[in-house]
Amino acid sequence: MRKTQSIQMVAPRISSVASTGVRLSAPNGVAATRELGYLEAVGRRFPIGGAIVSIGRDRNLEVALDDPGVSLLHAQITRHEDALYLRDLGSRNGTWVNRARVTVPHQLRSGDRIHVGQTELVFQGTAAPSPPLSFACKSCGKPLGPEARFCTSCGFPAPGGSS
Ligand SMILES: [Zn+2]
Repeated sequence: MRKTQSIQMVAPRISSVASTGVRLSAPNGVAATRELGYLEAVGRRFPIGGAIVSIGRDRNLEVALDDPGVSLLHAQITRHEDALYLRDLGSRNGTWVNRARVTVPHQLRSGDRIHVGQTELVFQGTAAPSPPLSFACKSCGKPLGPEARFCTSCGFPAPGGSS
């Protein structure tokens, strides 16, 4: 197990968010405002922009859910480099991703379905996924680099070439 920075997740600065309406900024100006994705609930979209995004019934949270089955501070999404991790914060009813209970930080992937209380949130990643190391030519099977436009062996158009 990796040691996680538990300090960061214990004390969300709810009051500052409430007074300014501005999302949490990273402590030392790290580029933490780039959206890595968003959560989609019924008719609502919550951008995941800050270093920490809190989910709960508290109206001052980034993801405020009016759901009696959701704890005031229910779960949190933290960023580690370009990955987002969802963790439960000891909520009453638990946090679920794709029907599995979150017991350890769960790395979010586009399309993940998060359940808190009666609410379903779908995570949609906007960060470009890291390109696969290589493709194989569909015609002859020769491995091709991600930037290849054509197979160097047989000339077949490659899937990685941006047209
Ligand atoms: Zn080929």
